Amino acid sequence: MICKDQQFDAIVLGAGGAGLMCAGVAGQRGRRILLIDHAPQPGKKILISGGGRCNFTNLHTAPDRFLSANPHFAKSALGRYRPEDFIALVDKYRIAWHEKTLGQLFCDGSARQIVHLLMEECARGSVRISLGKAIGEVSHADGRFTVPYGEESASAPSLVIATGGPSIPKMGATGFAYDLARQFGLKVVEPRPALVPLTLSDEDRLFRDLSGVSAEVIARVGKTAFREAALFTHRGLSGPAILQISSYWQRGREIGVDFLPDQPSGWALAAKRARPKSHFHSLLGSLLPGRLAEALAKKIGLWGELANFPDEKLRAAQDRLADWHFRPNGSEGFAKAEVTAGGIDTADLSSQTMAARQIPGLYAIGEAVDVTGWLGGYNFQWAWASGAAAGQVL
Ligand SMILES: Cc1cc2nc3c(=O)[nH]c(=O)nc-3n(C[C@H](O)[C@H](O)[C@H](O)COP(=O)(O)OP(=O)(O)OC[C@H]3O[C@@H](n4cnc5c(N)ncnc54)[C@H](O)[C@@H]3O)c2cc1C
Repeated sequence: MICKDQQFDAIVLGAGGAGLMCAGVAGQRGRRILLIDHAPQPGKKILISGGGRCNFTNLHTAPDRFLSANPHFAKSALGRYRPEDFIALVDKYRIAWHEKTLGQLFCDGSARQIVHLLMEECARGSVRISLGKAIGEVSHADGRFTVPYGEESASAPSLVIATGGPSIPKMGATGFAYDLARQFGLKVVEPRPALVPLTLSDEDRLFRDLSGVSAEVIARVGKTAFREAALFTHRGLSGPAILQISSYWQRGREIGVDFLPDQPSGWALAAKRARPKSHFHSLLGSLLPGRLAEALAKKIGLWGELANFPDEKLRAAQDRLADWHFRPNGSEGFAKAEVTAGGIDTADLSSQTMAARQIPGLYAIGEAVDVTGWLGGYNFQWAWASGAAAGQVL
């Protein structure tokens, strides 16, 4: 039997980073908030994030580090809730943290501390939380949204969609946000896996045999480039540089990889003059992991002493190593994607409040929305910022 008529000021669907932040902010403003999640525990992605230490923000947060059909959309929320604001919260809870690299901030201890912080903030706002109960069909009539969940049902004049994207379905991720958005007439930008390993075809079998080898490279698609580590896997390419570039990659396109970003132009010719008897693959081996150096030398077809190769061939090898073309045949998909790019179309939302333009009282925040950050704490910063933007107006 469904028990009816629990009344709230707002119902937030999804107790991930964005939903928890939104509920806590609104609750502390005196709003009566119900937060519902079908998972038995809140913040599951926070718990596994950053290798269990949660890369909770990035000091270099700026709108140009986010992908969206409208690159201006994220500016307002990101500008009003900044990394310093979340750091202040982390400090308030005496959670020790450190900068790892490239402005990425991690807990010294455990990601559990971040979930605890968010749950405490919700408790301070007297947020009612329901976990482990499935959400039924949401309805909207007379200016109120009604949400059945488990054996219960609640209604409120405001509803926040914070159920994220479908990446890592085995953790309970679903496309529910998109179904709900479409139910209310909001458009959805085609969702696609992002921050995801790319796969190589049989043509590149040689590289797949290098599984476990990594090197610092520059990975490029068009004008976008990332200098970080790339990792060969038994299915293709991974590592931060590849995950970053995967968000910009489209099926059928090539990615360019500079295997020797620190070598001055003419490095192979200079080596030929200085050490003509040394082998090309040994020269490469002094600059790259040995197995990778051998694979590249074989692919280029330069096997032997430098003195035996005309300058022209060495010049061509230098150019190829600075812009090696891979044509991935796909990605490892939503099963392995750290985030989902695309999502609820920002054209249908207010960038100030995250409210749906056409449906009063409806909001969408976090990964469910077509805003996707780079690797390195940007996605949580978007979850906090968009959650706070809605939480301040509910
Ligand atoms: C392995 C991994 C590591 C990551 N590491 C980092 C990192 O270190 N730093 C960083 O910035 N980002 C990281 N991310 C990305 C980050 O986790 C997400 O961008 C962020 O969690 C999005 O927050 P959200 O609240 O919008 O969605 P989510 O965290 O996905 O929360 C959505 C919530 O909705 C619930 N839900 C879904 N469907 C339903 C439904 N049908 N009914 C009811 N509830 C539902 C889910 O159970 C979940 O609790 C990582 C992601 C992964 C997968």
